[in-house]
Amino acid sequence: MLSVQPTFDATPSPQQVARCLAELTSLRDREQLQQRLAGHLVAHFRPRGAQVCRRRHDRLEDWDVLALQGAPAEPGEDERRALLEALGREHPLHLDGVPGRAFYPLLGSHGAEAVLALQLDGSPSEAHQQVADEILRVYRNVIGLLDYGERDSLTGLLNRKSFDETFMRLAGLSAQAEPALSGCDGRRHWHSGDPCFLAVIDIDHFKRVNDGFGHLVGDEVLLLVARLMGETLRQHDRLYRFGGEEFVVLLSCSQDEGARAALERLRERVAGYPFPQVQTLTISAGFTRIDADDTPEQAFGRADKAVYAAKEGGRDQVRCFDELLAVGAVSETATGGVDFF
Ligand code: GH3
Ligand code: MG
Ligand code: MG
Repeated sequence: MLSVQPTFDATPSPQQVARCLAELTSLRDREQLQQRLAGHLVAHFRPRGAQVCRRRHDRLEDWDVLALQGAPAEPGEDERRALLEALGREHPLHLDGVPGRAFYPLLGSHGAEAVLALQLDGSPSEAHQQVADEILRVYRNVIGLLDYGERDSLTGLLNRKSFDETFMRLAGLSAQAEPALSGCDGRRHWHSGDPCFLAVIDIDHFKRVNDGFGHLVGDEVLLLVARLMGETLRQHDRLYRFGGEEFVVLLSCSQDEGARAALERLRERVAGYPFPQVQTLTISAGFTRIDADDTPEQAFGRADKAVYAAKEGGRDQVRCFDELLAVGAVSETATGGVDFF
């Protein structure tokens, strides 16, 4: 749960500000960073009301609201407009003619996705606001550094390095029997006890793209496929580029059919997309349900076998490892690896 520990008084001393910055720059977890930033800003302003408003992935016009201070309240129409405007801004938004209303954008695991809405008693001093602005800037810098280490520079998707750690955490969460909502962390869906799926997505005949049109066009195709993945899959799905023209997705769905439907949607979107020069392109995808005691390698190995089956079956298709196993098209070895018959 979000904990809000006051870290400095109404007029922060340099030591208190330094402590706040030292704490924020020591964190490597985006959720924790977001929580502590919200905590520090609340401690800094001591607002009458403070709520973290997170845009919903399924109904974009709706917001999940977590009250940190004061009673929770559904945002009204003006407030929704302000939230949307604040989202993605570099600087906090102050409403003209409405003193005391301030909106601080909070970057999360998926870029800008939440806003800290403050209701202050009157307008804070300029110096007070400046301190908060600089804290926000340091926070953004830390997020930038995290992105640099965790993301693939071409596509902006998460890189392989960050996969294992996230995998273990999410697989553990999905195995939890008790649904638990942890409010400010943006992982609402991952806490619901729904099973996780791992999908491997591989571009078909990508070598032909490079050979026929050159590596620059190949790179553009990779970028476009990554973008289509981001647009087609849900906001809480985690997208990785594993290297070359191979992508991995961690999805949380209530059942196999949900994962299949999401991947089919992506397959169709790619197949129908007019890629510059190349014109048409297809992908093959394989997926598997993640078991609680899976290692990343085991789950990846199964999904990869399903991709192999998709390639064997003619490409431009989605295959589920668990279904292939049920019909005896693949077998699972004692070590957790998989073998084709
Ligand atoms: P299949 O349908 O069986 O997947 O065939 P494929 O041609 O896609 O697969 P293959 O593994 O033979 O070729 C993958 C190619 O991806 C070979 C390599 O040159 C290219 N590649 C890997 N990384 C990059 C990259 O960062 N940029 C570009 N442009 N090409 C890359
Ligand atoms: Mg390929
Ligand atoms: Mg490949």
